[in-house]
Amino acid sequence: MITPEAELETNWTSLARAMSSLLAGVQCWTTKHVVGMCGVGNSADSAACPCCGDFEDHLHVPRCTAPLASAEWDCRTASLGQWLDTQVTDPAIKHTLLYLLQGVRDPSLPRSQLVPVRLCQAFLSQQRIGYQGLLEGRLSVQWTPLQEQYLQSRGSQRSPTLWVSRLLHQLILLGFHMWEHRNSVQHSEDNVQLRERSRLVNDGIHSQFDKGPTDLPKVVRRMLAVKRQTALIKPLVNREEWLKLVAALWRLNAVLFTASSSSSSSYYYY
Ligand SMILES: [Zn+2]
Repeated sequence: MITPEAELETNWTSLARAMSSLLAGVQCWTTKHVVGMCGVGNSADSAACPCCGDFEDHLHVPRCTAPLASAEWDCRTASLGQWLDTQVTDPAIKHTLLYLLQGVRDPSLPRSQLVPVRLCQAFLSQQRIGYQGLLEGRLSVQWTPLQEQYLQSRGSQRSPTLWVSRLLHQLILLGFHMWEHRNSVQHSEDNVQLRERSRLVNDGIHSQFDKGPTDLPKVVRRMLAVKRQTALIKPLVNREEWLKLVAALWRLNAVLFTASSSSSSSYYYY
């Protein structure tokens, strides 16, 4: 929900410029993301985040505190800091923007008391727009004149409006890359649901090997001829199939054993 005050303070002109510089797929994602229409937390199987297992909506993706998601966020924000340096950004603006970005993950964190006085109005304006607004390309109009002053103080001919639209481009990509990272986890064995399946199947494999070589049916012994570690590093689907097959062979062996015992008994009685 964008308040009328925040709407007036948002640099829409630069956002339009930044959007036109993005690939069509990212433009589409940004538009959907702003209205919460991203494909998260609504799969047929689970509404849980694939990284941490918590309930997931589109706001959760950059906020996820799972170690992998946190590492991705730290890496992306560090890259943004380096990018800001290459764009001759006022160091105080750089630190304040990165400080505001921390508010995406922990809204209680950024406090105006820790911001240089000359940046306080821009900081408060950005707070009114919202931390999440940073990842959706909604930057306060107050940053442009501040960067312009810095460039002038250095005698730079760089354009502050170009700086803003390029910054918006980077901020939108930051949110997009977090979403891509979430999707990569969703389809990997780091997925929290798949991790549980992986743990269960590994327990099953261990118990098969722990039974030891004695008294095993010949067919199962052949299955266990591989090294335990080799069985454990196979892809999840292969491990599950392997375990199912070994369990089926055990069952088959039990049935055959029962049948042969009962036929021996029958012979004895007749
Ligand atoms: Zn999560």
